[in-house]
Amino acid sequence: MVRIGYIDTVHGICPHCDEDTLLVAIVTDYYKCTHCGEETRQYVNGSIKYLKLDDKDKAFVQRMRLNEENEEQDG
Ligand SMILES: [Zn+2]
Repeated sequence: MVRIGYIDTVHGICPHCDEDTLLVAIVTDYYKCTHCGEETRQYVNGSIKYLKLDDKDKAFVQRMRLNEENEEQDG
């Protein structure tokens, strides 16, 4: 299965630079700001918010990325 080339983007307020900007999905629920390059977590509680990552989030993103890289190499 090839997922390269598919990029999920959303519009939101980045908590790092406070810009209403385009956020690119890096892994499920986690996005990277195209304005400042920082990573954020999508948080849904009535409305959608974007939060800064804490250490647990960072570890999770790191693990997901490693998983994806391994999957891509399997092909
Ligand atoms: Zn930003």
